[in-house]
Amino acid sequence: MSDHEPTKRRLADLSEDDLLAEIFPLLPTSPQTVIGPGDDTALVSSAGGRVLATTDTMVRGRDWLDEWSSGADVGAKAVAQNVADIAAMGGQATGLLVTLVADPQTPLEWVLDMARGLGEAARAIDVAVLGGDLSSAPEGVLMVSVTALGELDGDPVLRSGARVGDVIAVAGTLGRSAAGLALLQQGRGGEAPDLVAFHCRPRPPFEQGPEARQAGATAMLDLSDGLIRDAGRIAKSSGVCLAFRTAALSADVQRLAPSVGQSAALESVLTGGEEHSLLACFGPSVPLPQGWRIVGDVVEGEGVTVDGKARSRGGWDHFTP
Ligand SMILES: [Mg+2]
Repeated sequence: MSDHEPTKRRLADLSEDDLLAEIFPLLPTSPQTVIGPGDDTALVSSAGGRVLATTDTMVRGRDWLDEWSSGADVGAKAVAQNVADIAAMGGQATGLLVTLVADPQTPLEWVLDMARGLGEAARAIDVAVLGGDLSSAPEGVLMVSVTALGELDGDPVLRSGARVGDVIAVAGTLGRSAAGLALLQQGRGGEAPDLVAFHCRPRPPFEQGPEARQAGATAMLDLSDGLIRDAGRIAKSSGVCLAFRTAALSADVQRLAPSVGQSAALESVLTGGEEHSLLACFGPSVPLPQGWRIVGDVVEGEGVTVDGKARSRGGWDHFTP
């Protein structure tokens, strides 16, 4: 094989324009994109006249390991994380901006694989990639940052609206990402490839966010840092206590138990991060939209309880162990 073999090329072998010319065809556009990549900025239309904006960054060695995640996995996960945040406000994503910060010795094939995974994940939900930025980095550094824009047909669902008497509901899975990560860390990833795949590419219930908003959800967020920790954020913002019942979570626990054992399964469901399912509160008489299930009640007090016992710790935090 010669050095000109595509799989052997490094970013340093291409000009920025040549690299972009290889990346752009992998990225989707959408009807909301008035002006796409190629000019100084993109121009995107937004139906409600207001724009949701959020950003999330993935760093190699912190947020993924190359042994476990392909470039395509990283690209797809970056889309999932960001669009889940838009859904958690009750909105629809309208476009993504993507920044790649990379050591020039990064294999071109990794970057194209990442763009392919990102493009496929965005295309699957009709979201355009509007543009982005490329920046070179010190040896070994590789980082993908996505900014998502979104639109909203009405008012957003905040974390602060939960009221005593509401029910707590979840859309999407619980604990799968954490269980997959635990198996990878134990070198047992082959025992449950579906859980590992979910960890590498979570599949948030994007449509359930706007549907919850339309149904009158009082508070909502996506589960990025674990059920207990994220529920604590709604509790704090709303000045209430979120009371969970393990009986309502037992199907989630039982689904994981054969792979990771009963107690790790319960812990994954309660504290597992990077699931990006949605947690919301609804008034007691509101019929839950499709895909939502009740897991507890909003009661007077503060913080989070599980079967009546206070739970304040557990879950993912970037800066404290
Ligand atoms: Mg979030």
